[in-house]
Amino acid sequence: MELAMMDVLKIRKDFPILQREVNGKPLVYLDNAATSQTPQQVIDVIVDYYSRYNANIHRGVHTLSQEATDVYEQSRQKIQQHFNAAHPYEIIFTSGTTHAINLVANGFASLLNKGDEIMVSALEHHSNIVPWQMLCERTGAILRVIPMDLNGELMMEEYHKLLTNKTKLVFCNHVSNALGTVNPIVEIINAAHNVGAAVLIDGAQAAPHIKADVQELDVDFYVVSAHKLCGPTGVGMLYGKEEWLKKLPPYQGGGEMIAEVSFEKTTYADLPHKFEAGTPNICGGIAFGAALDYMNGIGFEAIAAYEHELLEYATKQLLAIEGLKIYGEAKEKTAVISFNIEGIHPYDIGAILDKLGVAVRTGHHCAQPIMDFFKIPGTVRASFSFYNTKEEVDVLVESVKRAKAMLL
Ligand code: PLP
Repeated sequence: MELAMMDVLKIRKDFPILQREVNGKPLVYLDNAATSQTPQQVIDVIVDYYSRYNANIHRGVHTLSQEATDVYEQSRQKIQQHFNAAHPYEIIFTSGTTHAINLVANGFASLLNKGDEIMVSALEHHSNIVPWQMLCERTGAILRVIPMDLNGELMMEEYHKLLTNKTKLVFCNHVSNALGTVNPIVEIINAAHNVGAAVLIDGAQAAPHIKADVQELDVDFYVVSAHKLCGPTGVGMLYGKEEWLKKLPPYQGGGEMIAEVSFEKTTYADLPHKFEAGTPNICGGIAFGAALDYMNGIGFEAIAAYEHELLEYATKQLLAIEGLKIYGEAKEKTAVISFNIEGIHPYDIGAILDKLGVAVRTGHHCAQPIMDFFKIPGTVRASFSFYNTKEEVDVLVESVKRAKAMLL
């Protein structure tokens, strides 16, 4: 797709924040992998909720409560359709990816025995490492790691060797937040299923670029955060196959998740409410559905094709800067560029870029094992979205050159 075929300038008008200045310069927002910006269409849905039908859901007989319940449950159906889950009750609203992973990890505490093995990839965000380490401490299960190579790709031959009938669960991201690598999740899922292991895929970084079909993937769990998808913070999704969600115990106890409570015995509500204790982020859940509507309106194929062009353009321009090294050269990548300039700390580059209006992330990107693998303290990470432009890439490149000139 030609860059011009997506009307980026029109799309940009949907995002009020993109009109602002930072340090007297037009904002160039390239921290989309951390969080994406929110279009007016989604902001309007949030304002509408608080202006017209703010009420607690699922338990009110009054009109506002019924309206809020209906729109919230419609949003669940939109999410179900987007990810092609078989049933709306397989979509559990969570506060985000981290919450969703902790929910599953907690549930597996009752299913694992000492000596069972669970497997993580070397390319993970801390939120797909630490909950599993905590699970191992609780259960005596052993954590195995699928190694990566210098291109930032998983070593699939090693993965196949590590899988045995002791493996109970494999968890891996669809796309790496630190490097942008798209992992071969179909192969990962199929091979895990062949030894009887369940698979959780962390879709936090994939969901803004790739529309995952959970039934086609045959994945057991798929988790995302709405704030990386043009939605608000504090809301996300756990997709779980019905059979797994039935097997796992509730994560938190409280209102909403019960069938009946007495001091002798409490029974739990059916799915999805069994995992949704307490008053949820109602407005967030509604806005999550609206954000998916917005992105589907643009189209995920168009988004991926456009971002890929931005990635290629930016990669070429940045590599022309002497001393600049890009980490992660996977064959399949989303529009994330993690780089350093020899002799300069990434934080210093990030601070100068900010003075020039360019927002990037610096540091370990919550993926310290990847930084350790490359023996670096961190990187500068520029991550692009469909509302970024080629001109903004030019500003990034010029700003990096200026930073280099100032710091060396
Ligand atoms: N997994 C990946 C791959 C991520 O990139 C992130 C956030 O950057 C997370 C998990 C955690 O997401 P959240 O902080 O929204 O729970």
